[in-house]
Amino acid sequence: MKINDISLPLKGKCHCGSVKFEIRTNIHGLRRCNCSMCCRKGFVMGTALIDELVITSGKEFLNTYKWNTKIAEHYFCKVCGINTHHKRRSDPNQYGYNIGCIEGFEMSWIENAPFVDNTKMSLIDNFKD
Ligand SMILES: [Zn+2]
Repeated sequence: MKINDISLPLKGKCHCGSVKFEIRTNIHGLRRCNCSMCCRKGFVMGTALIDELVITSGKEFLNTYKWNTKIAEHYFCKVCGINTHHKRRSDPNQYGYNIGCIEGFEMSWIENAPFVDNTKMSLIDNFKD
């Protein structure tokens, strides 16, 4: 079993299962990011176009965090706190989604998730109040 042996749509959920979603494209565009948000979350993201990610249940459990320019929208489960996906500021036609939420995905499959240097996207000093 390897990354693209998981059948589509990919099925994802937060830790407690309140929020469920589908990704209607294969796993691609894996990346890590070092903006002030991602360096705290530390997850590896997959890439989907806006209409390729569908919340199938628990929309009411999603909360959104925005800061700074408020273009990026970071979605997380109100119950368990897991970030499921976010609308990218670098391309608001895309979502980054938390690859660790995908059913059947093994973190050990990640051999190379390139770092996208987004420190400048943060616009705020990372460790200053
Ligand atoms: Zn949850």
